[in-house]
Amino acid sequence: MAKKTIRDIDVKGKKVLVRVDFNVPIKKGVITDDNRIVGAIPTIKYIVENGGRAILFSHLGRVETLEDKKNASLEIVAAKLSELINLPVRFVPFTRGTELEEAINELKDGEILMFENTRFEDLNEKGKLESKNNSELGKYWASLGDCFVNDAFGTAHRAHASNVGVASNIKEKAVGFLLEKEIKFIGDTLENPKHPLVAVLGGAKVSDKISVIENLLKVADKVLIGGGMVFTFLKAQGLEIGTSLCELDKVALAQELIAKGGDKLELGLDCVTGTSFSNDTVATVRSFNEIPKDEMGLDIGPKTIAKFSKIIDGAHSVIWNGPLGVFEFDKFENGTKQIALAIAALNGRAVTIVGGGDSGAAVAKFNLEDKFSHVSTGGGASLEYLEGKVLPGISCIDDK
Ligand code: ADP
Ligand code: MG
Repeated sequence: MAKKTIRDIDVKGKKVLVRVDFNVPIKKGVITDDNRIVGAIPTIKYIVENGGRAILFSHLGRVETLEDKKNASLEIVAAKLSELINLPVRFVPFTRGTELEEAINELKDGEILMFENTRFEDLNEKGKLESKNNSELGKYWASLGDCFVNDAFGTAHRAHASNVGVASNIKEKAVGFLLEKEIKFIGDTLENPKHPLVAVLGGAKVSDKISVIENLLKVADKVLIGGGMVFTFLKAQGLEIGTSLCELDKVALAQELIAKGGDKLELGLDCVTGTSFSNDTVATVRSFNEIPKDEMGLDIGPKTIAKFSKIIDGAHSVIWNGPLGVFEFDKFENGTKQIALAIAALNGRAVTIVGGGDSGAAVAKFNLEDKFSHVSTGGGASLEYLEGKVLPGISCIDDK
């Protein structure tokens, strides 16, 4: 369902509350990756260029103790944003109170203000007001503006005061450009895919991906399984899997999924093994029916790569979640790399989507970010989206 977007709001002269995702990695006071700040700029620019007054807020890390608080101020993020957007950004080091209210009232059209880490409200004596979506807090933040734009996908799977709380207490609300893109690609592909839709699923554990597999079996034409979780499926087929990752309590479920999936489910043919979980172990290609007792599968093998690549080549949409092997070790990165390349080769011919934190990291490792239709910006949020769940940060915005 299409959501109202920022283009549907007349922002001129309005105090526009914007929930951004500025939860950036910071080491020793330095922002080590500013992607999320860069990602929010189109929405902020749009507001400023159309004469709105942008009031930005975000969480940063977890704030559970006073010690956490010391390292979680958004002040340096505001400075970074100012540098990147090349405009002044007024930072207010509070999450409420007269100083914040006065600063907002002094804002002029086209100006930007940012207030302090919303999770500072989690240290309140009354409990975690932000993370528990305290109704007073949502109402208070909503009272600071005229309309609300949610552009934080990373927290869209959580109902917090700074997204759902504000949205529930304000009439005019919309999604920003970042969130719009996530909905357009992930949401629309799940709801109304261009067939054939091929889902490529990997990662370490079956237990992390059960709901994703189940949901994608419903909508996809093929579901290709790789990564560590394939071995639980092989175990379910009675094969020897050596010391590979296996969740014994999920074998029965894997059996059920194999029965349910039928021809849709593809487990591949071979893997690359080692004798230990390390980049220094000797890598050996093994068919699935000849894995020795003392070896573990750490990547998909060449026959699997060929089979999966062929299936991918015929796709009109691809959803990929989860690395196919331990791509962090150069020795076992090839499967993930080749599958990434096979999906990237569809560039222009198919809708290609990558979701999941580690999958995104793999795409970055192989420098393929620009070769996909969409690389999702949210780890947990994209997983829950792929599971077919309704994300509260999206559902709190009205349909068009
Ligand atoms: P995402 O974050 O994209 O959803 P996951 O968190 O589910 O992905 O899984 C990523 C991890 O799975 C990676 O760190 C990778 O090393 C690991 N992995 C992939 N294949 C294997 C394997 N055969 N054995 C052990 N771990 C694996
Ligand atoms: Mg992960």
